[in-house]
Amino acid sequence: MRMEVSDLDSAGQFDFCVIGTGPAGITTAMSLAADGKRVALLEAGQEEYTEESQDHYKGTIVGDEYLDLEFTHLRYFGGTSNHWGGWCKTLDAIDFEGKKGFPDTEWPIRKTDLDPYLKQTAEILEVPLFKPDMPLANSGFKSTDFTFSPPVLFGEKYGDALKADPNIALVFDAALTAFDTNGAAITAAKIKDSQGAEYSVHADRYILATGGIENSRLLLWANAQSNDQIVKNTKSLGRYWMEHPALPVGDVLMTTEFANSVMQDGIAFISPSAEWISQNDALNCLLYLESMTYRGVKAMIADVMCVAPDFGRWAFQQVNKSLYCGTNFRCGVEQLPLEKNRIELSDELDSSGMPRTILYWTKGEAELQSFRKAARGLADYMAKADVGRVHLRPWVLSDGSYPKEYDDVPGHHMGGTRMSDNSNLGVVDRNCKVHGQENLYVAGSSVFTSGGYANPTFSIVQLALRLSDHLKSLS
Ligand SMILES: Cc1cc2nc3c(=O)[nH]c(=O)nc-3n(C[C@H](O)[C@H](O)[C@H](O)COP(=O)(O)OP(=O)(O)OC[C@H]3O[C@@H](n4cnc5c(N)ncnc54)[C@H](O)[C@@H]3O)c2cc1C
Repeated sequence: MRMEVSDLDSAGQFDFCVIGTGPAGITTAMSLAADGKRVALLEAGQEEYTEESQDHYKGTIVGDEYLDLEFTHLRYFGGTSNHWGGWCKTLDAIDFEGKKGFPDTEWPIRKTDLDPYLKQTAEILEVPLFKPDMPLANSGFKSTDFTFSPPVLFGEKYGDALKADPNIALVFDAALTAFDTNGAAITAAKIKDSQGAEYSVHADRYILATGGIENSRLLLWANAQSNDQIVKNTKSLGRYWMEHPALPVGDVLMTTEFANSVMQDGIAFISPSAEWISQNDALNCLLYLESMTYRGVKAMIADVMCVAPDFGRWAFQQVNKSLYCGTNFRCGVEQLPLEKNRIELSDELDSSGMPRTILYWTKGEAELQSFRKAARGLADYMAKADVGRVHLRPWVLSDGSYPKEYDDVPGHHMGGTRMSDNSNLGVVDRNCKVHGQENLYVAGSSVFTSGGYANPTFSIVQLALRLSDHLKSLS
């Protein structure tokens, strides 16, 4: 049911208070309510987009070029699902393991902990189950399956059900600003509406699901107002923040036979095997080959004819036999979780009086080398197997730094409240509970210990379902 923000003070004790209505918050709230729990579901924004609400997401970026923060997440009902692309993929088993040569990359859980939620997540996101990976013979690479959500917009899809559910109190214009604590547990969530009026919500347990930047920002701000009594060990709070850097690495011409074996709807997804990653001291990554128009292919062949005659000759033969498929070749890599990539509070305040975000973010050497190794590795394989030729960009072949050209980052905000059994390395434990608090939990990609290359929302929903099951088991 809908509840007005002004009724919160008199609403009594809830079983759960879920803060945020994106994929993480709505999945958690609906799962708990289905078990008969009384849930307050709080949304800072309104039911529809407003510029006033979105303004709270403005912030500063220090480091590499990045999209303005207010364009990479949305502050209204349904959250950032209102403009997600719907690309779905699970994390690989290797993503949960410690990476050789890269410290602080191991999750305290494994892929098998999330696998039980595969089917339910696929139903929520309206995608088919993933087809098994298909190894490319003797290459170290495999063709891998992505699925595509319509995309499900969580507010639109679940709005009527949430409003009709007697166990849910759905409240708009209810922004969390702080927590009260007795030292061991949270005793109230402090809420402010857009007019500045303040309210309290009381619940047995609180789940923070405000997205991959706001989860850190809110805990940092809650700590600043409570002398670090919310996240008591602040060592990793806001830190180990990650994105999925992606860059064009070249162009590919391949035989139609090979194209038919790896491409679906004009795109192929290829990723390295666990063995290749380990042997090459690389990070996990995704290589994607996207069909070019006929005109694009001709222009590409003409371009490379003079700089790479072998490629040109091979391409020419294929074109003459009409046995070719031209693709743009892009690569997205996992980002190494590093303390220095972090969220901090600015001195500048938003209209509610909350400090705005400063995001410190740079891509590093490990990602650069992983781009290079993976792109060169696939190029070598295609030439040796004679299934295609790859024209790599000069920076991929050089030893220099990142190319000047800027590629959009995808808006995958991960880390900041990462999962670790060691409170020096993580904010939440394996059950997504904040270390040192009895009843405060975090949902969303901010808990990712490391990020793999997969788009995060499928894993976010799996984690939310797992968290809900854990919470149900406690009460
Ligand atoms: C352009 C773009 C395309 C994307 N495409 C894909 C894709 O194809 N595949 C994929 O997997 N992922 C994609 N993503 C990422 C995806 O949108 C996010 O992973 C997902 O929405 C995160 O879900 P969430 O519930 O954790 O956070 P959000 O969806 O951000 O929801 C957070 C909610 O919390 C609310 N909130 C914030 N502060 C407060 C507060 N103080 N009090 C109360 N409520 C608050 C917000 O209003 C919002 O409703 C894309 C992102 C962008 C920007």
